[in-house]
Amino acid sequence: MSSKRNLNLIFLGPPGAGKGTQAKMIVDKYNIPQISTGDLMRAAVSSGSSIGDKVKSFMASGALVPDDLVIEILLDRLSSDDCRDGFILDGFPRTVGQAEALDQQLNKKQMPLSGVVAMMVPDGVLTDRLTARRICRQCSASYHLEYLKPKIEGVCDRCQGELYQRKDDSEEVILNRLKVYHDQTSPLIDFYQKRKKLYTVDGNKKIEMIFSEICDIIDKLNSP
Ligand code: AMP
Repeated sequence: MSSKRNLNLIFLGPPGAGKGTQAKMIVDKYNIPQISTGDLMRAAVSSGSSIGDKVKSFMASGALVPDDLVIEILLDRLSSDDCRDGFILDGFPRTVGQAEALDQQLNKKQMPLSGVVAMMVPDGVLTDRLTARRICRQCSASYHLEYLKPKIEGVCDRCQGELYQRKDDSEEVILNRLKVYHDQTSPLIDFYQKRKKLYTVDGNKKIEMIFSEICDIIDKLNSP
């Protein structure tokens, strides 16, 4: 790939829209890191750090972690060397406050946002995807018990890690996560549309078709 420009991308969409799955495929093709605030915070919880203790109960109920905490975690990660040529934010921002904090930081670092890819999927499909979702403990690749089975049951195709069901992928918590998305995160669609940064894709299609649409968007953003 001839990557003259930085690719500073946001993947926006409800839980289960396929942000993580698509981001991992983009990482392999464009060689920029995926930054998932959910993964960063799950790692903090598993490590038993003080930040982990603070975010645990919010995550368990499907509520958003307070902006100040998640912004601190994200900005710290963004300052790593591997983000110099670009990044994909997966699951951040989730509130207008987070989007504004990100804007400020990117302006300060002269790292303009390339674009925001919003994946649209109806709620009923999301609930089905999330209840049957299994995740790799090691690389956080995502599978579905029916539509995207691993070659060996319970084992990740990519890294042979163990697959597990996230606690917040239970039906009750999913309903709350979807409500939180509609109330607090979906206003970002308008936010980025007004800034002419928004690219919408239908996330209710085959993974390869969505990937191809996203690659077309990225290639246009990336062309001189
Ligand atoms: P995810 O892995 O993106 O589905 O995130 C799992 C959980 O982590 C969410 O339900 C929230 O509790 C928390 N979380 C992840 N990203 C954010 C964010 N940007 N702002 C607030 N909470 C977040």
